[in-house]
Amino acid sequence: MVVLLTGTFLAVNALYFNEELRLDRRYADPSPGPGEVLIAVKLAGICATDLEITRGYMGFAGVPGHEFVGTVVKGPRRWRAKRVVAEISCVCGSCDMCQHGLANHCRRRTVIGIDGRDGAFADLVAVPERNLHELPDAVSDEQAVFVEPLAAAYQVIKQCPIEKRMQVAVVGSGRLGLLVAQVLRTTGCKLEVVGRNELTLNFCEKKGIQTVHASELVPRGNRDLVVACSGSPEGFDIAARLVRPRGTLVLKSTYARSAPLNLAPIVINEVTLLGSRCGPFPEAINALARRQIDVESMISRQLPLSKGVEAFEMAADPRYIKILLKMGA
Ligand SMILES: [Zn+2]
Ligand SMILES: [Zn+2]
Repeated sequence: MVVLLTGTFLAVNALYFNEELRLDRRYADPSPGPGEVLIAVKLAGICATDLEITRGYMGFAGVPGHEFVGTVVKGPRRWRAKRVVAEISCVCGSCDMCQHGLANHCRRRTVIGIDGRDGAFADLVAVPERNLHELPDAVSDEQAVFVEPLAAAYQVIKQCPIEKRMQVAVVGSGRLGLLVAQVLRTTGCKLEVVGRNELTLNFCEKKGIQTVHASELVPRGNRDLVVACSGSPEGFDIAARLVRPRGTLVLKSTYARSAPLNLAPIVINEVTLLGSRCGPFPEAINALARRQIDVESMISRQLPLSKGVEAFEMAADPRYIKILLKMGA
């Protein structure tokens, strides 16, 4: 990062995507707009959405990165020097969705590092003040990087209240699947994770979460709720065979490519399909502060931003779980 004596920033290091991903050491200073603050990013996580962006998801060009923690360096006094995380939807506050308390679905929204706005794989990121959440000391930077995806995992139990007697399955044991499974476990329901990755299935077993390898699965159509987190049409197929008639199938993954899906079982079994995206930050922050959810052991590596391209390759490699980028290193 280039800092002038006057304390203003001239150019920043940023990971930039436009058909290909590259490191830009002289990326323009992201000057904050009205109602926005400037955050010096400390750590950021790479997730499946970022990988999808490099495959053309949302037709995004710019700086990706939406799971991050940093310190406010420019903005209203009450936020200055505060350690924060930020919600990713930047909203207008006046459209019909915003007016009805559904700001995450704002008609005119931009989304940090995903849609129409630069993200956090850079020294600095500008975000609306209204998106900020201050972190308690009990949450480390490493934990804080997971607030955004963990909030998305909490959205599942917000949309579908879980009772202890319920039979629940998570399909996909990737980064998001592991978070969703840990959140579901806190409800005391009968839970099983279906996956193909021995490393992440072992992670679940160590947490006392029952697992089954997809190749050994015999779907009986008896689950009240199935959460599809695999990001693959095959995962959707498995989920559709696991869910009971009149049960609920939650779709948690987004992908760049559309794929043919067999929807007949959904119709025949009168399954409720539910899309699920961003979730409540306060729940996620509290759960991390109380150490209800273990995210630290999901971190495989922390790389400097200068190794960002390599870090993306590692994030796509099933031998690793979560890859973090460290700014200013
Ligand atoms: Zn993400
Ligand atoms: Zn709006």
